Amino acid sequence: MNMPFRYLKGFDPWDIIIKNTDTNEEFALKNKYKSICPVCFYPNVSDKPKECHSGIESLESKISFITGHFYETDYEGNPLNWFGDILRKISLQPFKHSHEILKLILNEKISNSDWQIEDIIYATMVPTTNLQMINLFSEISQNINLTWIPYNQLFEKKTSTTFYKDRKDYVNNKYFLLEESVDLLEQIEKGSSLLIFDDVFHQGYTLGRIIELLSKSNFIKFKLVTIARTVPKSFLNTLQFP
Ligand SMILES: [Zn+2]
Repeated sequence: MNMPFRYLKGFDPWDIIIKNTDTNEEFALKNKYKSICPVCFYPNVSDKPKECHSGIESLESKISFITGHFYETDYEGNPLNWFGDILRKISLQPFKHSHEILKLILNEKISNSDWQIEDIIYATMVPTTNLQMINLFSEISQNINLTWIPYNQLFEKKTSTTFYKDRKDYVNNKYFLLEESVDLLEQIEKGSSLLIFDDVFHQGYTLGRIIELLSKSNFIKFKLVTIARTVPKSFLNTLQFP
């Protein structure tokens, strides 16, 4: 079945313009940031240069990024900024359409990146229970001819009621490498790159943990792709996010 959506190129790689060719309706999002973090693309905040990606700070040399725009919602999930608004508009579309739009956006971002996509063979994702995300990310991997490794063949999630002192401590006690993953990881060619999908990037603690768990494997480079990202709470006082 043909979908009516087209992805139109903007002037800035951060621009997203989706057009419904049946109704001529457009979902458009323009970049509004002048200066961004060279690693994770947060808007630069001069007195807080590192906090934006503190969860992956020690892994910087192994990682490159494609990330979505920042979004903010209130406690009920109502959008408080422009990207929050566009995500809501997308989610109000019939399911097959919203799925298609997210796929278009991520596909375009990956194919327009400066990555040598033909050098990447494998893809996986950060563990989630969100079935739509699992389908979305595995479908994109197939589209670009990557070998999909389901996250539940690599990682296990442990739930605990223990109190943790911070987010890093919590995440480190939540995800572990599955014992059964050893055989699978041994088959990976030495020096390979792994593409990792995630729906939302906060400060990277979960991604940092996932990569740490794979640090003794044959994967040496990690490519991260996320749909959206949140704004660290401490930034809200210093920056107005459009
Ligand atoms: Zn950063």
